[in-house]
Amino acid sequence: MRALVWTDKQLVEMQEREIPDYTGKVLIKVAYAGICGSDVSVYLGKHPRAKAPLIMGHEFSGTVEAIGEGVETPLQVGDQVVVNPLYFCNRCRACLKGNTHVCKSLRLYGTDSDGGMAEYVAIPEQSILKLPEGISLKMAAVIEPVAVVVHGLRMVTKPFYGAAAVTGLGPMGLLTALMLKDAGVSQLYCVEANAQRAEYGRKLGLTVVNPMEVDAVQFILDETGGEGVDLLVEASGSPAVAKTMTEMAGVRAEILLLSVFKEPAAIDLRAVNFKEQALIGTRVYTRLDFQDAVTYVSKNEEKIASVVSHVHPLEKGQEVFQDIISGHTNTMKVLLEIGK
Ligand SMILES: [Zn+2]
Ligand SMILES: [Zn+2]
Repeated sequence: MRALVWTDKQLVEMQEREIPDYTGKVLIKVAYAGICGSDVSVYLGKHPRAKAPLIMGHEFSGTVEAIGEGVETPLQVGDQVVVNPLYFCNRCRACLKGNTHVCKSLRLYGTDSDGGMAEYVAIPEQSILKLPEGISLKMAAVIEPVAVVVHGLRMVTKPFYGAAAVTGLGPMGLLTALMLKDAGVSQLYCVEANAQRAEYGRKLGLTVVNPMEVDAVQFILDETGGEGVDLLVEASGSPAVAKTMTEMAGVRAEILLLSVFKEPAAIDLRAVNFKEQALIGTRVYTRLDFQDAVTYVSKNEEKIASVVSHVHPLEKGQEVFQDIISGHTNTMKVLLEIGK
């Protein structure tokens, strides 16, 4: 089979590989695989767990090609499916509490073992979800990042209706902003320092402030009568934003940390005290969030499509990763087309 293999820092290459052994598993013929920020950190050689050679890709959709011997499953050959890429130990305290998504030794297909950037992948039955009729395999590859947003927004404890801000308009921030609009916030402000990404958001009808041009904190305070927003979703992972998010957020506001910070960042804890703000940490998604993301994507394909900026053949992998890290291109969610 054809596979895009990460072999070294800033290097992925097309290789001819054996179809993986699917004894006790289900063999999936991959259709599309999305490129995630964490794939980019693997590509750069900066991911703490990934080891080369590795077939990346944890955001992928496909079709059941074969069912391994002895596997009991309602799935049938030809079913369109998506994979929940998380796997866990089932023994640690988080797992025992039912919070397997924050397992002490949480692992992902495509990071800790081979994933979806290949023609075929073998996955245990319990990690596979059958897609609803009619959903496109292309949009189904975006279910995984949508699940992250579903999980985050489910962690917010207060109803929306008031003012909200999303800092960082990468694919995750953009998805959040579009989904928050549906959730009924009355005012929504996005903050994005990359001019192309800011423009991308504006084209989708969002109010985007560029902190390189305007004082974003002042803008949000002006728009909210000096009060700040009730909900701030941090999706940039930027330490500079972490420093100012408590200023943009108001009294008793909730600050949802959706992005994964690469290192500790400074936060104004005095503001957290004085305004009784709540910081909410989030990490990936539960199995329920993932299931709900399947439904969300199947009912909102047009919205999800607006987040996909590029679809490239798998063979272009090296070029595509180079493009993304160069920061020159207007990339939002980028998909690799593998089969169809
Ligand atoms: Zn991802
Ligand atoms: Zn565990």
